[in-house]
Amino acid sequence: MKYDVVVIGGRVAGSTAAYHAARLGLSVLLLERNPEIGTPVQCAGGVSDSFFKSTGLKPLPEFTCTRIRAAAVNGPLGARIVTENPVVRGYILERKSFDKYLALRAAEAGADVLTMSIAGDLIFREGSVSGVVFRGPDGVQEVECGMVIAADGVQSSIARKAGLETGFRPADLCSCVQYEVAGMDVDPETMEFYFGSRFAPSGYLWVFPKGEGRANVGLGIRRKSCSERGPLSYLNRFMEERGFKRIEFNAGAVPVCGPIERTFTDGLLVVGDAAGQVDPLTGGGIHLAAECAKIAGEVAAEAIESGRVDGRFLSRYEMRWRKKIGKNLERSLKFRKILDGLGDKELDALLKSLEGKDLSSISKISLLRILKDYPSMLRILRDIL
Ligand SMILES: Cc1cc2nc3c(=O)[nH]c(=O)nc-3n(C[C@H](O)[C@H](O)[C@H](O)COP(=O)(O)OP(=O)(O)OC[C@H]3O[C@@H](n4cnc5c(N)ncnc54)[C@H](O)[C@@H]3O)c2cc1C
Repeated sequence: MKYDVVVIGGRVAGSTAAYHAARLGLSVLLLERNPEIGTPVQCAGGVSDSFFKSTGLKPLPEFTCTRIRAAAVNGPLGARIVTENPVVRGYILERKSFDKYLALRAAEAGADVLTMSIAGDLIFREGSVSGVVFRGPDGVQEVECGMVIAADGVQSSIARKAGLETGFRPADLCSCVQYEVAGMDVDPETMEFYFGSRFAPSGYLWVFPKGEGRANVGLGIRRKSCSERGPLSYLNRFMEERGFKRIEFNAGAVPVCGPIERTFTDGLLVVGDAAGQVDPLTGGGIHLAAECAKIAGEVAAEAIESGRVDGRFLSRYEMRWRKKIGKNLERSLKFRKILDGLGDKELDALLKSLEGKDLSSISKISLLRILKDYPSMLRILRDIL
């Protein structure tokens, strides 16, 4: 077996990279360890309109559940703000169908997709990654390739085998648990967020409506807060209080520490959660994974075409994705640090001071005025704004 590119991991990052590499004329093999693309689900599926705008994808009914027009933020002590700011507009995706759609799109562009195929080891030629050993339905196989794209998620082991530092420490991760629930009376167009130590210390709880009384109800807690009570105990308490009916459970971790230091080496690129390309404030990774994977697929095509898969050539991948999203990731990390520093009272007071205000028209000056009672936050905010 011989391909220009082997992509490891068949979800958002992997299928998107495979699609772009294949559409640009490369021979591509996509390996996914699970028998079915998109399952088990490990995501709430929230994406904003800007995701569709920048990826060029259409919000097709086959993978979108609901149109979101508003977001409500609930404080720990009763404060609540609702915003219809255009930046919150978007969709809740049915990830099972969406991931399948992306893999199908890659296959239609020419990529070969193999499920139940676990990449184990890398093969090197003169120090550069030049193949993959994987265990598939037909046993252990070797595939030769020009280069590899590692899109194997938060527990990524592939890039580490090529010498990159992709391991996340427990403190870098947000532990997430989620139920899909049914028979709920919720506004189908509003995403609800709950903050504070009662709901999700150093994280947040979400209720994302999926239409027809269904919703994804979950929460993420940074690992350092998990020592006393696990995330599931917070979620179960919320579920019991609301009387929600569970139909599915899933769990996963999200890296919220910012991206890894280096995302390329000789013959290999890393993309998506494996590269830490996740917004550290929201934990959202779908949009960033797709954007960076497109760049990875394009750089792979340039590299194969010019016969240059060395790290020096592939460094253009890192330059391009950092130029596109690097500043936003840094800003989000700073904002998350502000939130981390807020106690329940401060958090609630901050939300109360924003109640009834048109958030889209809040200027830097008015935000600074609102926050004048919180000197530590003011300092960080001045830095950010
Ligand atoms: C509970 C939860 C809720 C979330 N909600 C949202 C949200 O609402 N909005 C949002 O934008 N983001 C959300 N995220 C984050 C988002 O799901 C991820 O950032 C995104 O899915 C990352 O995609 P990926 O393709 O990089 O990685 P993954 O989705 O982790 O995919 C990696 C794939 O690689 C495969 N794989 C791993 N190792 C191997 C191997 N050796 N061989 C072959 N295959 C392998 C895995 O089976 C998997 O299919 C959430 C995350 C969690 C855990």
